[in-house]
Amino acid sequence: MKQPLSIIIIGTGVAGLMAAHQLADVARVTLITKNLIMESNSALAQGGVAAAVDKDDHPQAHLADTLAAGSFFNHRSRARDMVNQAPNLIDELVELGVPFEKTKEGYMLANEGAHSKRRVLHALKDQTGKAIVEVLQQVITGRVVQLDEQLVTEIVVKQNKVQGIIANGCFKHADAVMLASGGAGQLYRCTTNTSGATGDGLYLAYQAGAVLKDLEFIQFHPTVLKTKGSGLISEAVRGEGAHLVNKAGKRLMSSYPRQDLEARDVVSAVMNQAIKRGEDVFLDATHMAYFAERFPFIHKSCRQAGIDPAVDYIPVEPGAHFMCGGVETSNVGETSVSGLYAIGEVACTGVHGANRLASNSLLEALHFAKVAASHLSSKDSGSVYKQADVKEESGHQQNHMLPFREELQDKMSQFVGIERSEEGLLAMEKWLQSFRDKQTTKQEQFEDRCLYELALFITKAARARKETRGTHRRMDYPNMSTEWKDQSVLFQKKHTRGEGTFE
Ligand SMILES: Cc1cc2nc3c(=O)[nH]c(=O)nc-3n(C[C@H](O)[C@H](O)[C@H](O)COP(=O)(O)OP(=O)(O)OC[C@H]3O[C@@H](n4cnc5c(N)ncnc54)[C@H](O)[C@@H]3O)c2cc1C
Repeated sequence: MKQPLSIIIIGTGVAGLMAAHQLADVARVTLITKNLIMESNSALAQGGVAAAVDKDDHPQAHLADTLAAGSFFNHRSRARDMVNQAPNLIDELVELGVPFEKTKEGYMLANEGAHSKRRVLHALKDQTGKAIVEVLQQVITGRVVQLDEQLVTEIVVKQNKVQGIIANGCFKHADAVMLASGGAGQLYRCTTNTSGATGDGLYLAYQAGAVLKDLEFIQFHPTVLKTKGSGLISEAVRGEGAHLVNKAGKRLMSSYPRQDLEARDVVSAVMNQAIKRGEDVFLDATHMAYFAERFPFIHKSCRQAGIDPAVDYIPVEPGAHFMCGGVETSNVGETSVSGLYAIGEVACTGVHGANRLASNSLLEALHFAKVAASHLSSKDSGSVYKQADVKEESGHQQNHMLPFREELQDKMSQFVGIERSEEGLLAMEKWLQSFRDKQTTKQEQFEDRCLYELALFITKAARARKETRGTHRRMDYPNMSTEWKDQSVLFQKKHTRGEGTFE
């Protein structure tokens, strides 16, 4: 008789939840998170999900915008599949109960940077991520095992086949493991990301022998509230008419073809230049009478920071937002390690190229969770990876004498942030390499280690890519280079391709 697979999914954002929902009836699924189940970047997503659902729109136009925003560095066929499937995915989410906002004519669609049409669906006004997470949470309840406060510190692999994981120091067997552990915004001083976004999955995958790819492409979101506690101001706010201005009210983006709705890499770079000149940057939404009604959550964050968007300019700065690169995956979401899958922000599917189009991230996470789950559904336990003898781990992690997290964040922001140069990148690499080993077991120290290792990879990748493309801006190589058009910087622990090689 066919034995169902045992599958461990690491991460309770939209990627992990969607995969759990898809697999719940055909496999024995355990869903694990290091924090509480509702804590993820997914639950913070404001703007929405991009999909060509309007009668005047077409997936072809969505694809064209995705490729242009990504500096044509994207994996085209996967990007095409994703945008083609987007309208069906929306139907499915609605069927599950996601309350996307509607008008009499159809879905209420928002505009965001680098989209040629209004095509962003949103729910609970400006809390789309929360709406999707809550619905998916509901539909998996009772169908999968859910474990919170379980820090995964190792993916156990024998002869390039997954055997299971180590969580809170204990081994748990699995026929397959899905990494859905999100990004690494905590590498930078200013970020939109939750405190748990420390790049654990990238480090775990690297240690397991998987390939890391395109790490130098880190997206900075232009409008992070510049106050204590910070918080994102969704791009949809500019989509509804807010402008970036300096203190004197002069608009920053008026000379650009799409003005305030240029792609994020362009807007963040313009803001960065202004900030370097010593100017403060603001979002002017004072003319938007409906601000509080359309963006109640963002309005509340502003008011909590003592800002009234009806009369005050909102102080903003760019913050680390999204990793376009990640763990390299195949068309079905599998990594180069048998039985190890990566979905959502931790993965590098290639659909975003060198810069992600706004609101394509929830879409990517949901779409590839389905693709990977569908691939795994066709397998049974007998057909896959045999369990090997694995000793329980003591919980002691070999660790580096690491820099303080704030120091790392400051240096990453200074040398490996929006603008980069050989001099700064080399100084950063030398500084990172000057740290030594120590032992540790604690969550914060494990996260620091992940951040540290990732900082080194990103710095090396950024040094290697001698051109400017998308989110990667080299002041000493300000143009796109044909030589780098199809090249990726890869890192792999095993010797098959070697560290820092290119393909
Ligand atoms: C403020 C904000 C607003 C955004 N708005 C939008 C938007 O409007 N539209 C859009 O498309 N995208 C948006 N994004 C991006 C998008 O939300 C994320 O890229 C996406 O939600 C990632 O989903 P995920 O499931 O891959 O990871 P996440 O949602 O980040 O979840 C990661 C999970 O992995 C767990 N985890 C991590 N490491 C470990 C470990 N070692 N052990 C156990 N568990 C672990 C975490 O606890 C968490 O549960 C936004 C992001 C932010 C931060």
